[in-house]
Amino acid sequence: MIEEIKGDANGVSGVVFKNTHTGMVKELAVPGVFIFVGYEINNEILKQEDGDMLCACDPHGAVVVDLAMRTNIKGLFAVGDIRTQAAKQVVCAAGDGATAALSALAYLEGH
Ligand SMILES: Cc1cc2nc3c(=O)[nH]c(=O)nc-3n(C[C@H](O)[C@H](O)[C@H](O)COP(=O)(O)OP(=O)(O)OC[C@H]3O[C@@H](n4cnc5c(N)ncnc54)[C@H](O)[C@@H]3O)c2cc1C
Repeated sequence: MIEEIKGDANGVSGVVFKNTHTGMVKELAVPGVFIFVGYEINNEILKQEDGDMLCACDPHGAVVVDLAMRTNIKGLFAVGDIRTQAAKQVVCAAGDGATAALSALAYLEGH
């Protein structure tokens, strides 16, 4: 378990970690650290008072969308990491956003 990330204005220089089985604490010199944030999808915003989701989600909690980023609720679009089968990359989220913007425009023009 990481106890401390060491560094200064020039960047990371090392980590102090603890072996949770033995309790032994060691320091390791490293030039950088990648933070793993996990796979849990932050979909809290879609949870309604009765616990149901606002729109259809897959078993992992990701919003189901079609290729135009439309959810099953008319006029509601989902993009980026929250959508099903997302590549979870910045460029993909931005592309989704452009697609959704065009879909939203088409939706509004139809009304
Ligand atoms: C540590 C780390 C490193 C990464 N490195 C790379 C990389 O090198 N290259 C790459 O392509 N991708 C990388 N990614 C992935 C990339 O950051 C995401 O794929 C991308 O940011 C997804 O964009 P998004 O708009 O879907 O979500 P986000 O960028 O997460 O934006 C969602 C926004 O919604 C806000 N929000 C959440 N809940 C609410 C709410 N209830 N009300 C209002 N606002 C809310 C959040 O605060 C956030 O600002 C990395 C991700 C992490 C965590």
